[in-house]
Order: sequence, then structure tokens, then C-alpha cells
Amino acid sequence: MGLVLRSLKNWRLFKKDKLKSRYEVVVIGAGVHGLSTAYHLAKRGINNVAVFDKSYLGGGSSGRNTQIIRANTRLPESTKFYKEALEGYEKLSKEVNLNLLINQCGHLTLAHSEFELDVLRLRAQSNRKLGVDSRVIGKDEIKELVPYIDLSENKRFPIVGALWHPRGGNIRHDAVVWGYASVANKLGVEIYTHSEVKDIKKEGNEVRSIIVNGEEVKCNYVINATAGWCSTVAKMVDIKLPITTIPLQACVSEPLKPFMNVVLVSVRLAAYFYQTERGEFVMGAEIDPYPSYSYRSTLPTLENIATAIIELVPCLSQVKVIRQWAGICDLTPDFSPIMGEVPEVKGFLLNVGWGTYGFKTAPASGKALAELIATGKTPELIKPFSITRFYENRLMDEKASAQTAH
Ligand SMILES: Cc1cc2nc3c(=O)[nH]c(=O)nc-3n(C[C@H](O)[C@H](O)[C@H](O)COP(=O)(O)OP(=O)(O)OC[C@H]3O[C@@H](n4cnc5c(N)ncnc54)[C@H](O)[C@@H]3O)c2cc1C
Repeated sequence: MGLVLRSLKNWRLFKKDKLKSRYEVVVIGAGVHGLSTAYHLAKRGINNVAVFDKSYLGGGSSGRNTQIIRANTRLPESTKFYKEALEGYEKLSKEVNLNLLINQCGHLTLAHSEFELDVLRLRAQSNRKLGVDSRVIGKDEIKELVPYIDLSENKRFPIVGALWHPRGGNIRHDAVVWGYASVANKLGVEIYTHSEVKDIKKEGNEVRSIIVNGEEVKCNYVINATAGWCSTVAKMVDIKLPITTIPLQACVSEPLKPFMNVVLVSVRLAAYFYQTERGEFVMGAEIDPYPSYSYRSTLPTLENIATAIIELVPCLSQVKVIRQWAGICDLTPDFSPIMGEVPEVKGFLLNVGWGTYGFKTAPASGKALAELIATGKTPELIKPFSITRFYENRLMDEKASAQTAH
């Protein structure tokens, strides 16, 4: 048993006999963001790159999320970025030569009051101005999209309208992870799973090397793409991130005959759900009420999800939940990511702050970070998301669009 465990510990997914003594770029974290970054670096010809993950490929939130993709955010800067990411996902199956089962069934955010509807109208206008399909629809159209929804008026939170985003939907998360990993590896990127980066060494204010698998490996750049653990990695270079790690839970039902082909979200009821091609309902909720690194799922969250979903689509009341799980999320105070350099340490780059909504953005984050390293210039697209916004009090408030909607 001891032998098996030891050999598992040293198991490297994309086998390389020996670590090199120096890499141009070290990526910490083999989730969608780390792997997308590594792939885009290699695509630009920078392939002296190693990705390290302390767990298995996609073992963080990239393999635990509910796979929702969309681009209907609130602020113009975010919408431009999320639009590029959505377009990236639309092309990704071809790019990585793997069917990622993208399903652009549409994303529907319900409004339960006239005030909520007004806010959604503003969002729709701002989205459309930037070329994102997004509009407010009334109850008749909602009924057409979700025939079994309860639109009666004598309930706690009656539905008055919704924000409709037809190009939103979902895409298989494990396939995305494997697609990025295999194509990056083919281009020369080395990927080491079960390899925890224990420390990062500096020389003056520059990154010099990392400590991994008992070896010191030199590098010019370190990219922190460790989501829920990103504060612990930033601490290695004495950086304190404005990030809190909080668990998020989800669950899945037994399979039913397909009858709902849309992602349905109610921020007021703090729940969202959709039916997969296999017929299961994937259901999610609000973040846990306290910071933690725990993967434990809880009964109160399951009850909250069930209460909300039965209120919206009552015919689901007898359906059995077959699995519930949790992942951890790296939340910033403004619910927007942090990408790019940190002024305090040269060569240390961030691709973090993805909170509960980061799976959908990997095609754009990786491309932008690779451009930054290749050209030495921060791309316009990610400038608003630098860490300095917290030093300069110019937050990118996306709470209303990111909180429960994913
Ligand atoms: C239940 C749930 C539902 C979600 N639903 C959605 C959704 O529908 N749509 C959406 O867009 N987003 C969603 N999210 C958020 C999304 O999953 C994350 O934002 C995204 O996956 C983050 O990807 P990542 O690559 O940054 O991090 P991760 O996938 O978490 O990868 C980070 C990796 O870093 C590794 N690591 C940590 N420390 C070290 C170290 N010292 N050395 C080496 N490796 C290390 C970890 O093992 C991990 O594999 C959801 C999240 C959860 C938990």
C-alpha cells in the first residue's frame, strides 16, 4: 500500500523523466486558467514552460464547477473581456481537436420585481452596445422557453420578466481541462501533477526559482493560477491578496426525460439550474456563509437549493438528488478577477480572483497573460483588472451580475 501511494505521489501525467533546471515560465495550478495560459504561451512559441499542480489535472474548481458560460456582465470593461472568452469557447473544440460538447442553450436571469427588471434592462442595453446578444423578455416568452415554470402571481417572489442571453449555456469542464492540457503538451509544455510548489525564491525584488518535488527550479516568470489557494502562493513572495477563499456547493439530480433546455437563474432566490443532455438537473446556490478551505457539502445548502428550485419549477419536487459536492472560490471584494503583474515582485504574475464565475473566462485570460509575457505589455483588455485597482480605489463592481448567476 505504502509503495502504491509513493508511486502515485511521484506520478507525472505527461511524463518527463527529469525536471529541467530552468524554465522560461512556471505556471502554478493546472486548472483551466493555468492550462489556457500555458497553451497560449506555447502557441506564441514560448514553450519552455512547466505547469505544476499539487493535485490531479482539473482537481481544483475547474473539475467541480457547473460549466456555465455567458458574457452578459454589467460593466463595459467586463463585457468586452467575457465576450472574448465566450467567443474563445465557441472556437475551442476545433482548436484543441476535441469535442467539448458546448451547448449554447441560452441563459435566463429572472426578475422578481419591477426594480430588478429595470436593472436588467440597463444591463441588456449595455451588453447590446458591445455586441453581446442580451434583452429583457416578458412572461409569455419565459413560458415558451421554460414551459413548466410557475408564473403565478400569488407567491413569495412572483416572476415579472427576465434577462435573456441566447449565446449563454454550458460546456464540458473536464473536456476543456483535458483539451487544453493535451494541446499545450503537444506544443512542448511540461505538465506535472501531484507536484506541490512549496516555495518561491526571490533575488532582490525579482522571482528567481520555485521549490517543487524537492528540487529548486529556476525561472523568469511565475504565474499564480491557483484560485482558492492563490493567497497561500502569493504569500510565498510576501504579497497579500485582497482575496477570501469561500466554498461553493452544487448538486445533480437523477436523469429525467429532457424538458428544459435553458440555464435558469434567480439571484433573489440564490439558485440556478439547467438540465444536461443526459437528463440530469445540475443545480447550484450561493457561496457558503463563511470562509474556509473545506470541500464538505452541507444539508442547509441542499435545502436552500431545493426550496428555490421547487418554487420556480414545482414539478421537480419529487426528483432525487444523487450527488452533492463543493469547491473553493477565490473571491475579490468587487467580484472581478485580478490579472497581470504585481508592482512589488518582478516576474510574478496573477491569474486569480475567479470566484464563483471563472470557468467561463479561461480562453481570454490565458491569451491575455501570454501576450503580456511575450510582448512585455499589458493588453488593453485586462488593464482594468490589475491588482493596482485596489490600491487606487477603482473597483470593478460585478457583484450584481456575478454573485449567483455564475
Ligand atoms: C460548485 C462550483 C460551481 C461553479 N460554477 C461555475 C460556473 O457555472 N461557471 C463559471 O464560469 N465558473 C463556475 N465556478 C467557478 C470556477 O470553477 C472557477 O472560477 C475556475 O474553475 C477557476 O479555475 P482556475 O484554473 O483558476 O483554478 P482551479 O481549477 O481551482 O485550479 C487551481 C489549481 O491550483 C492547484 N494548486 C493550489 N496550490 C498549489 C501549489 N502550491 N502548487 C501546485 N498546485 C497548486 C490546485 O490543486 C488546483 O488544481 C464554480 C465553482 C464551484 C466550486
